[in-house]
Amino acid sequence: AGFAEDEAALIARRQRLLGPAYRLFYAHPVHVVRAEGVWLYGRDGEAYLDAYNNVASVGHGHPHVVAALARQAATLNTHTRYITDGILDYAERLLATMPAAISNIMFTCTGSEANDLALRVAKAATGGTGVIVTENAYHGVTDLLAQMSPSLGPSAPVGPTVRVVAAPSGQADAGAVFARGVSEAIANMAVHGIRPAALLVDTIFSSDGVFADPAGFLAPAVELVRKAGGLFIADEVQPGFGRTGAGMWGFARHGLTPDLVTMGKPMGDGHPMAAMAGRPEHLEAFGRNVRYFNTFGGNPVSCAVGMAVLDVIEAEGLIANASEVGAAFKRELEALAANDGRLGAVRGAGLFLGVDIVDAQGTPDATRAAAIVNGLRERRVLISATGRHGHSLKIRPPMVFSQENVALFMDRLKDTLAGL
Ligand code: PMP
Repeated sequence: AGFAEDEAALIARRQRLLGPAYRLFYAHPVHVVRAEGVWLYGRDGEAYLDAYNNVASVGHGHPHVVAALARQAATLNTHTRYITDGILDYAERLLATMPAAISNIMFTCTGSEANDLALRVAKAATGGTGVIVTENAYHGVTDLLAQMSPSLGPSAPVGPTVRVVAAPSGQADAGAVFARGVSEAIANMAVHGIRPAALLVDTIFSSDGVFADPAGFLAPAVELVRKAGGLFIADEVQPGFGRTGAGMWGFARHGLTPDLVTMGKPMGDGHPMAAMAGRPEHLEAFGRNVRYFNTFGGNPVSCAVGMAVLDVIEAEGLIANASEVGAAFKRELEALAANDGRLGAVRGAGLFLGVDIVDAQGTPDATRAAAIVNGLRERRVLISATGRHGHSLKIRPPMVFSQENVALFMDRLKDTLAGL
């Protein structure tokens, strides 16, 4: 009882200090004090299975990453207006994971900054201002990106040059449907005298509800945007760094080479670092006129951390792990869904999975999804829900997730469903 009172006091203290804009997960919030691998540890000493945090991509507190961070922090940390080696070594290694046409990279601290930079570059390169996003997209926290993040709801109205299209929701003809939406958006821009600058999409459509298939569905829409003079910005903040199990980047599953690529979250295993990569011809107009300086972006510590993350992805075979464990995880969820009408479609790629939760009529049931998320939390398994209707379970664990972790997850999910 003392504990619960204590928790209530902490929550009140948060509210008093951080103000009203912050939110906590779960009906019964989790108080964590440390983490390791796929485990978060509560103040009560309990271990929580982390099936949600893609930021801790190679596992919480990975010793190789922590050692690299500490070593570099003790050696040198400064900005990009001196010559340093780390940024060049890291840039080369990261760009080597991309299609050859993408050969420049610029560093930021957050995914929002990377997207903001990509939009500035796209506007400079195309002379356009129009941006197309999906209907429940999230692209960042700035005033500009809030206007391209319909998932934020009515408090963040879509900007006057932004057009919103339906997300390709897993249907077989998703490519044609998505292209039609994009084509209508381009036509509507023309009517309003707006020239397209970019199609900006998260290539796993995380906040729209996790839409991965059929692989390749993005290509026709990208072609249309390019024909209309706009660029394709692949927002890899969610799927990037191997999570889909099919190479390093989500766009690869679609057989595409983007014009600009933005990345963040998993890049530093928790260290705040992000970047925008692109084709030199598109950076030309921007670079001619703009002096770019990001105080912390690309600093030596971040670059050392980024290198260490790439080391771990390679040394531990984490892309193959995401593919294998993710596929087994998906099969387990599909088998459960086949026998439980409360689970609808199971979607995703690698270790990025979405499961629709529905009512007896098969319609989206956000209340039931929230009950499952909270039920799992009571059983010390952490996930969340996503999508336009808030009814899709979002399962996105650190990439070191094992078959054993999947088995534990499934046990706890079955127990949760039995208890509803
Ligand atoms: N793009 C996508 C697809 C994201 O999910 C997020 C973060 N949730 C961002 C951009 C913004 O990244 P950050 O929070 O690092 O600014």
